[in-house]
Amino acid sequence: MKIIMLGAPGAGKGTQAKMLADKYDIPHISTGDIFRANIKNGTELGTKAKEYMDKGLLVPDELTCDLVVDRIKQDDCAKGYILDGFPRTIPQAECLDNALNAMNDKIDYAVNVDVPDENIIKRMSGRRACVGCGATYHIVYNPTKEEGICDRCGKELILRDDDKPETVENRLNVYHEQTQPLIDYYNNKGVLQEVDGTKDMQEVFDAIVAVLEA
Ligand code: ADP
Ligand code: ADP
Ligand code: ZN
Repeated sequence: MKIIMLGAPGAGKGTQAKMLADKYDIPHISTGDIFRANIKNGTELGTKAKEYMDKGLLVPDELTCDLVVDRIKQDDCAKGYILDGFPRTIPQAECLDNALNAMNDKIDYAVNVDVPDENIIKRMSGRRACVGCGATYHIVYNPTKEEGICDRCGKELILRDDDKPETVENRLNVYHEQTQPLIDYYNNKGVLQEVDGTKDMQEVFDAIVAVLEA
């Protein structure tokens, strides 16, 4: 099963992608996590990506597309994968389509997790991310068992630099301009599915599973 998660920053894509990856035992591929790992390891890609991420801008397509195309060609992706945070622009979607066509393959579903901007701001200010495994929590909606410690891997939780309200506003603008058009793009391909992302996490998850198993 090859799935794309669409939705605004903070809509819950990562949360749902991790739950789906566990359920279906397929890789969760998050471009945000890949960039953050590169920043942490001080790679050249990380240095370049950080410049854009700190401002709430998208990392240029040239730095993003090949990375994902290489990743989905790896053996563990043969049964399927969940793309979280990619594609985020029409050129990225076209790049992915070209690569998939060349592999005689296609995306099964693009799941749009729909959440209005008002809810997003609340979610981002309370989001805490694990420095170890990238899992995200929320101080109110999805707290960890032990405060500040990841339930999955025991590492420390942080408030991401780009989750500050000023940056979140930029990221939402960028989302509406550059990423939202992908909803039509995948609708035109007949693979779009919409779920109401304002429901609680388990309800959103059940709605997605229902769509995938229909
Ligand atoms: P969120 O979880 O809020 O949606 P991500 O972790 O997916 O955020 O992404 C964090 C940042 O990494 C983005 O704001 C952007 O700067 C960069 N980024 C992630 N994925 C992409 C992509 N596909 N194209 C360009 N930039 C990206
Ligand atoms: P994205 O990957 O789309 O940026 P995340 O999965 O990181 O979004 O979720 C953003 C924040 O909202 C996190 O703090 C997460 O714990 C919380 N969250 C995710 N899904 C829900 C939900 N259905 N209801 C309330 N909070 C949620
Ligand atoms: Zn963790």
